[in-house]
Amino acid sequence: TGPEVVTQRKAAVSVRGLTKTFGEGEYAVTALDAVEVDIRENEFFTLLGPSGCGKTTLLRLIAGFELPTHGVIALEGRDISALPPHRRPINTVFQSYALFPHMTVAENIGFGLRMLGKPAAEIRQTTERMLALVQLEAMAGRRTDQLSGGQQQRVALARALAPAPKVLLLDEPLAALDLKLRKNMQLELKSLQAETGITFVFVTHDQEEALTMSDRIAVMKSGRILQIGSPRDIYDRPTHRFVADFIGDINILDGTIESLDNGIASVRLKDGTAVLAQPGTATAARPGAASIAIRPENVRLAQAGETPTVSGTVENVVYFGAATNLHIRLATGEQMVIRNPGAVEEGRYRPGATIGAVLPPELIRVLE
Ligand code: ATP
Repeated sequence: TGPEVVTQRKAAVSVRGLTKTFGEGEYAVTALDAVEVDIRENEFFTLLGPSGCGKTTLLRLIAGFELPTHGVIALEGRDISALPPHRRPINTVFQSYALFPHMTVAENIGFGLRMLGKPAAEIRQTTERMLALVQLEAMAGRRTDQLSGGQQQRVALARALAPAPKVLLLDEPLAALDLKLRKNMQLELKSLQAETGITFVFVTHDQEEALTMSDRIAVMKSGRILQIGSPRDIYDRPTHRFVADFIGDINILDGTIESLDNGIASVRLKDGTAVLAQPGTATAARPGAASIAIRPENVRLAQAGETPTVSGTVENVVYFGAATNLHIRLATGEQMVIRNPGAVEEGRYRPGATIGAVLPPELIRVLE
């Protein structure tokens, strides 16, 4: 199955059959492989995936810095595939802010507007609005090499937003900031997007950042989009083993789909236990070998008298302040983690003890 394409809301950017190959013959690299996606108007959309999966290439194609090998990019329904970058109502913020060090903050912000030949009064007004938006009014006259990293990033954002692009592309814009500043800027960026109503396409390889900021996320691997969905969709209802593994912690067990009833799979685990599970995609809903997945926080310990779904031996109890993880080894040899098992007082669970765990069927996914 291809990725989900949603069209209830007007698409700001539509990408169809987009393929990008670098190099030729035996040296050819397919950076993007028939990518399809609709990015909606006013949406904070994130491209998430490991290094080399094609995130930057997709962004550069949307910006027009690269031309597609195959496929079409449309903006509000108009094919822009052949337009040069400066003719597209799209702006980009890079990880390296690329500010002009010899110009003041205000001059940097107004730069794009001057290039567009806007009248001086309009440039001044917009610059003031942008300074207020990123809370740098007091810094207007400073040279940008006299600013902190976070302030420089805000100038870069203001400069990119000043010409009011329809779409703002952001390529790991927070990667150079330290963790604390990065967390602050994540929230700032998110509210900036909401305030301006501009469609943001944000690239990151940080899953937590993607979950925190995005309206929707596209998870990419090897030049393809595997799943598109809200942070909740991606976290609670992953479709692929890769997506499940890439985002958060998850328990994955091997089994065999024996039958399907009304879309629910009956899966035989390696120890002979049968469990019911929810297939994430049509491809996952086929009899035969299958992987099932459940988040550690969705597994609970069996109570007295209750029949556990699986049993195992406690190997480790890992306490980290906000949560406790119980690592157990199942009879099948597979490992399972249970987060915040009930009553986690010190010394309650000892390595070597046998315990039973309950896996609620509605929270078990069958992965592609
Ligand atoms: P990162 O997070 O490391 O920036 P990415 O997901 O943005 O990675 P891309 O930079 O889009 O990945 O690269 C995708 C693939 O295309 C990689 O295998 C990369 O080596 C290759 N690639 C990208 N640009 C070029 C180029 N100009 N010439 C040859 N190969 C390229």
